[in-house]
Amino acid sequence: MEADAVVINMRKLQTNHIIFIVFILLISLYCRYSSANKLSLYSKQEIKMGTLVEVQLLASSQRVANKAISAAFSEVDRLENILSSYRNNSEVAKLNHNAGIKSVKVGNDLWIVIKKAIQINHLSKGAFDITFKPLWDLWKTNTQSPPSLNQINCALKLVGTEKIKLDSDNHSVFLPIKGMKIDLGGIAKGYVVDKALHVLEKLGIKNALVNAGGDLRAIGKHFDRFWTAGIRHPRKKGVNIASLPIHNEAIVTSGDYERYLIIQGKRYPHIIDPRTGYPVQNMISVTVIGPTAMEADAISTSIFVIGDREGLKLANKLSSIEAIIIDKKGDFYKSNGISLNN
Ligand code: AMP
Ligand code: MG
Repeated sequence: MEADAVVINMRKLQTNHIIFIVFILLISLYCRYSSANKLSLYSKQEIKMGTLVEVQLLASSQRVANKAISAAFSEVDRLENILSSYRNNSEVAKLNHNAGIKSVKVGNDLWIVIKKAIQINHLSKGAFDITFKPLWDLWKTNTQSPPSLNQINCALKLVGTEKIKLDSDNHSVFLPIKGMKIDLGGIAKGYVVDKALHVLEKLGIKNALVNAGGDLRAIGKHFDRFWTAGIRHPRKKGVNIASLPIHNEAIVTSGDYERYLIIQGKRYPHIIDPRTGYPVQNMISVTVIGPTAMEADAISTSIFVIGDREGLKLANKLSSIEAIIIDKKGDFYKSNGISLNN
């Protein structure tokens, strides 16, 4: 009897021992697993495309973050070399140099951006127009006085998206009149933000925000909350009028404070109404929320040109688009789907 009891106690002891070891093993496995998956915030800012570009992301280590961030910035560089009208060797510069001479074969990125620009040109009934550039060049060089009506009418002859000739089979583009020029300043930053974010996603990043001078798009979350975008006060630097959560979408702002000319003491914003040839004077800022940064970018510029009433109608008509508009009088308009928490 006694010998049996000793054997049973020994077995109990062994079983307890095993349970204890398994328990310790499970705890250490859990600790290793959770520390490998513990996410920290990493970010980097660089001047690109003439503006401050910032990438923020959550990653499990500095090594993972560095790899993703540098891949995203390489993508920005690659696209700037294609889409900038200020770089002599860009595809856009080649297109412009060959205006009135010959068509130019373009790569996939420029093709996509031009096609989207044409689509938004139709949507905005001509307000968004990437051929506006001869007008801007005219205003830029007349620093003493505004250009004359005659000069504006001459430049207007070079403007009009409908003039662009596309050959879908060869992906080639022709600007048929000498002096015609395109400039993608109203849409390209958005496309670059989308592509940089796509690069991060391909590298396994699930939570990130890319911001190119106020054109931003985010995926996932900032820890347990959504990423947020501050809507800047158009006249008070560093002050936000509202803060919006970003639910896997893009938020883009066009403002009269970003770039402008001063002629005879008067401020002329960098957005031109291609229908009149004059810089748009009656708007302060337009913020657009949409599924992609490229679309939000082009639509914010479009609404800036078409104005508050028509702009609001356009935003309310497009189911995936919301807008916040501030006009020159400081009046504030928002589309039906916007609720602000500031
Ligand atoms: P955004 O800040 O996105 O509104 O873009 C403004 C930029 O768009 C300007 O700096 C110009 O490069 C370009 N732009 C100006 N007027 C127009 C227009 N009517 N349509 C398309 N792009 C424009
Ligand atoms: Mg824009």
